[in-house]
Amino acid sequence: MQTARIEEVIGEFVLLKRKGANYMGLSPFTDEKTPSFSVSVAKQIFKCFSTGKGGSVVTFLMEKEHYSYPEALRWLAEKYNIELPKEEEQTPEQIAAFTERESLQIINEFAKNHFMHNIHENDEGKAIGLSYFVERGYRKDIIEKFQLGYCLNSGHDFTDAAKAKGYKLEFCEKVGLVKSKDDRNFDFFRGRVIFPIHSITGRILGFGGRTLTNDKKVAKYFNSPESIIYNKSEILYGLYFAKGEIIKYDNCFLVEGYTDVISLNQAGLTNVVSSSGTSLTKDQIKLIRRYTQNITILYDGDAAGIKASFRGIDLILQEGMNVRVVLFPDGDDPDSYSKKVSTHELETYIKENTKDFITFKAELLLNDGNSDPLVRVKLIHDIVNTISLIPDQISRSIYSKEIANRFEIDENIIVLELSKIRKKEVGKQFTEPEQKTIEQFNQNLVPGQKSVQSTQASKTKIEYFEEFNLIRILVKYSEYLIEIEHQNEKGETILVSTSACELICHELNLDELNFENVTFAKIYGIINEGIAAKKVYKSSFFIKHEDQEIVKFVSGIETDQYELSHNWLTKHNIETKTELDNLKTCVLDAIYSFKMRKILNRIEQIDSELIKLEALNETEQIDFSITQDLIMEKVTLLHVKAALAKVLSRIILH
Ligand code: ATP
Ligand code: MN
Repeated sequence: MQTARIEEVIGEFVLLKRKGANYMGLSPFTDEKTPSFSVSVAKQIFKCFSTGKGGSVVTFLMEKEHYSYPEALRWLAEKYNIELPKEEEQTPEQIAAFTERESLQIINEFAKNHFMHNIHENDEGKAIGLSYFVERGYRKDIIEKFQLGYCLNSGHDFTDAAKAKGYKLEFCEKVGLVKSKDDRNFDFFRGRVIFPIHSITGRILGFGGRTLTNDKKVAKYFNSPESIIYNKSEILYGLYFAKGEIIKYDNCFLVEGYTDVISLNQAGLTNVVSSSGTSLTKDQIKLIRRYTQNITILYDGDAAGIKASFRGIDLILQEGMNVRVVLFPDGDDPDSYSKKVSTHELETYIKENTKDFITFKAELLLNDGNSDPLVRVKLIHDIVNTISLIPDQISRSIYSKEIANRFEIDENIIVLELSKIRKKEVGKQFTEPEQKTIEQFNQNLVPGQKSVQSTQASKTKIEYFEEFNLIRILVKYSEYLIEIEHQNEKGETILVSTSACELICHELNLDELNFENVTFAKIYGIINEGIAAKKVYKSSFFIKHEDQEIVKFVSGIETDQYELSHNWLTKHNIETKTELDNLKTCVLDAIYSFKMRKILNRIEQIDSELIKLEALNETEQIDFSITQDLIMEKVTLLHVKAALAKVLSRIILH
């Protein structure tokens, strides 16, 4: 964890832009259009202000990739070339103990290697699988890069290999590698060449398998079925290889299939992805949006390709992204076209035929200067409909101008039409800024309501706050020194210097108080034991802790909202004292507020017990000493409460 750089790791998933000391990007955990995801280089933590998620580099990997703690560490070790103690070869029992997700991924990884092995080492694999790829014109390095393979035609080669390895057939069936029929198992991809489908981090999620026969009755492609690790609509083929290139060129080429991605890569176009086995989905576009705002659709120029590109344009615009289109000559897809021409010619073709969506639609629908008014009306309606999908108002208005100019119509008419459509289509949904305002309004409403009706829920929240504040201060300032007045044995008042954590722990131990929140209690326990062992645990220690609840909490308090508002205040020449300037006050206030809360809670508890006892007393005889003890305790507590209130008011005034 000392070697890992959080900005590097997260940079593999999110396009990060420098902003002062931090990096900002679009949250990978939610669907957002304005960046609220922040990474602090100095603190090595991230914070997603949209979802509230935050933590260390390990937390990120656990959240994003659903890794377990050891898996996340293993991933980091691999990335940073850190050798981990060798793990023993897994026995079937150990494998069975893995989570299902892990098991499925291990099997897919095994299958990928098995299929790759076939085309390089197996006679049938070489003669049939490899030669198919070679005939398609794929270079060796490209075959390797995309980890292409072949599943032998025997129908049980893979199943046997998996069995021999001790993998559960049940899991092999779940990922669709093995099928069973009448008690017999067979290889789903038998006799097909294999295209492994990678996750963003390079894990194998599924496969595409192409038949080698020309039999029209045989499906050309088989695809892995959906499973807990394979959700077609959220995966883009090639993204694992392309993500860095997409960031570099700030553009993503979107094609239709495996072969297009591979051929374009071979021709030197590396920022290419395709949807695999589905038509393009919203989630796939969102995946791209993490890396760039710009998509260029490269589709076949046939009717199906044009239809698909129209759909793609609408989907992409709807996500607030920029879209351009290149159609290849009718009957050619990027794969076939890139084979006919040189790399240079391909680049030139793309450059010269890239069109913005208005031009693209206009040219297609007007068939070169068709001036039939009816056709023009239909076209303009069509384009205005598409523009109405764009969430950003400024973009919409720029496009309105563009159509007005191009088709020589009054811009106001376009604007009017747009607002009509939007009222009809999206009128029921709030825009993003509206949504935010509403949320903020609701949030502000809560504390106001609390003072009116003191519900049970709001009480827990307030108690949480005192616990929260004390543990926050304990973690944040544990090693800072504070001077406090102390009475020595002779009764003289002297000044002693103590660390914040010693003071807090001493005060809590004195009254045998602890935190109710489990995570807080754990943190407190660690710090308390640390003091006995003369060790100070700072937030940097907790951020590396295995317990992710601790990590989330500590990184949350390290992401300073206070810092932000402080900057804002100083910018406007409003003088503020930071917590550090007033540390003693802050620490004492937190301790005594915490104690006060405990006392108030206990008094309340006693009151309700007394009421219960009184009710009981009417029906049956009760032991009066219980009531008496409670009353005595309450009296003592009321004294302490008064004393504490005095101390607190002195602290606050200080
Ligand atoms: P050919 O050699 O006949 O051109 P191909 O393998 O290139 O065959 P195409 O029919 O040209 O396949 O389709 C292009 C791409 O579309 C393929 O690479 C594949 O990724 C995708 N595709 C086609 N059919 C399917 C299908 N049934 N399931 C998933 N993907 C498919
Ligand atoms: Mn093809």
